[in-house]
Amino acid sequence: MLIVMRQDATQEQIDAVVRVIEEKGCRARPIPGGERVSIGVLYNKGPLDPAGFQAMAGVKEAIAVTRPYKLVSREVKPHDTVVRVGNTEVGGNRLSIIGGPCAVESESLAMATAEHVKKAGADIFRGGAFKPRTSPYAFQGLGEEGLKILAKVRETFDMPVVTEVLDLEHFDMVEQYADIVQIGTRNMQNFSLLRRAGESKKPVMLKRGMSATVDEWLMAAEYIMSEGNENIILCERGVRTFVRHSRNTLDFSAIPVVRRESHLPVIIDPSHASGYRDQVLPLARAAAAVGAHGLMVEVHDMPDFARCDGGQSLYPDQFALMCRQARAICDIFASS
Ligand code: PEP
Ligand code: MN
Repeated sequence: MLIVMRQDATQEQIDAVVRVIEEKGCRARPIPGGERVSIGVLYNKGPLDPAGFQAMAGVKEAIAVTRPYKLVSREVKPHDTVVRVGNTEVGGNRLSIIGGPCAVESESLAMATAEHVKKAGADIFRGGAFKPRTSPYAFQGLGEEGLKILAKVRETFDMPVVTEVLDLEHFDMVEQYADIVQIGTRNMQNFSLLRRAGESKKPVMLKRGMSATVDEWLMAAEYIMSEGNENIILCERGVRTFVRHSRNTLDFSAIPVVRRESHLPVIIDPSHASGYRDQVLPLARAAAAVGAHGLMVEVHDMPDFARCDGGQSLYPDQFALMCRQARAICDIFASS
């Protein structure tokens, strides 16, 4: 249930509603809005009677939330969330672009790639220091050394960085260096990791599980938000299907559904969705057209020598072209 307070409700009236919710054994989550405060009721065992709340001073209405996810739903917060990341924002009308290599491989390669990424007009740099690899023999990332290189990229190019956390053990370390903590497709339902991300002060990028429904994805975001972290960016990265022409199938239809159901920003990763460089540019253009708030794309100074995902990494000039074309498409919608 969501208790919507009147515009002129006093703090005492808000506190009184919170007390009643807690006396019923539930948890109250005040949600400040532009004009009025709403209070989300969490952990209720069954349906609550709205009449009691409606009769309280300062209450405008009590609304039953019909979705299984609550805090991430538009029923609870109708307006779009814009996530502030360093000197930029994800959400709203401007297309955010995140670019960088699959993995941080060395300082010189990361710096060279970051220079291209910055020059192309991207907002955020990406790069894995801990890599989830299918094979235990494949390059696993540089670990803390990679995180230190990312910190250097941030300082040199004045760009926030996003990097993946694989497990609880390394959360504190990754959180310390990252501007956005990424939870990858393989961890979307790692509930202890989600709860830990919910305690973080850093924004979290939650990639869609490769076999997850939109509901499961939003419930995973709910885990994070229920612990108090409201800065979540969703990322569609393709789902497993029967096709062989690409690594995954980019589920464009999830974007309008997520935007209808949730106030959270949602971006698209066409690199992991396709697995092939020649598919990335057309998918990125389509992502801008379908209403994604941003793109996350792999780009490498020397893709042919990449230790990880070289075949799907763009050359720097392709990345610059992609930035121009995707932004132009986004602008058509922003201005109409
Ligand atoms: C990544 O973005 O580095 C990554 C491993 O992606 P995913 O979790 O979508 O496979
Ligand atoms: Mn990759």
